[in-house]
Amino acid sequence: MTAGGHFIFALASTIFAKKLELSPPLAQGNWGHIIIGGILTCLLPDIDHPKSLLGQRLKWLSIPIAKLFGHRGITHSFLAIAGCSLLLSSGLLSRTIIPIEFIHAMIVGYISHVVADMLTPAGIPLLWPYRRRFCMPILNPSKYPKWERIFCVLVLVCAVLYPFDILISNKLWITDSIQNIWQWARNVMI
Ligand SMILES: [Zn+2]
Repeated sequence: MTAGGHFIFALASTIFAKKLELSPPLAQGNWGHIIIGGILTCLLPDIDHPKSLLGQRLKWLSIPIAKLFGHRGITHSFLAIAGCSLLLSSGLLSRTIIPIEFIHAMIVGYISHVVADMLTPAGIPLLWPYRRRFCMPILNPSKYPKWERIFCVLVLVCAVLYPFDILISNKLWITDSIQNIWQWARNVMI
């Protein structure tokens, strides 16, 4: 996906994350902090490509990562999402003046990139170091670049129009045990 598509998709994701109250800080936090936090990390996984928007500016970091893991390698996996989430929420940043909702939004921004890349035919190695790539190829930026932009804008419109106070758990049938696991995960992230 292009950098522009990632920006729009991340914006939509952060709006959804706040409206769906994915964590208490996101539910109660400042809109500005959440939007900026999500946008800030939405291109971070592509640090593994020296020609990406971020890679061009941080070549000293991008080139070694590209050589070690290749493009769409470890940075596009559960392992990287878990690592970034732990790093961001484990105290290094949360003990600073940085608002906690900003940190949670940074995690949402990172995840939004991985999800968006999964929508392209190239897919992503979600279970890295297991190399199999996972994809739901509803977008094809090289063949239909306009459709990618239209899709991202549509997701953004849905996010903006989505009403407040309608949690996804109220819409779906979710067992108590899953609810309990979700509550536990939310508490760990605080
Ligand atoms: Zn990517």
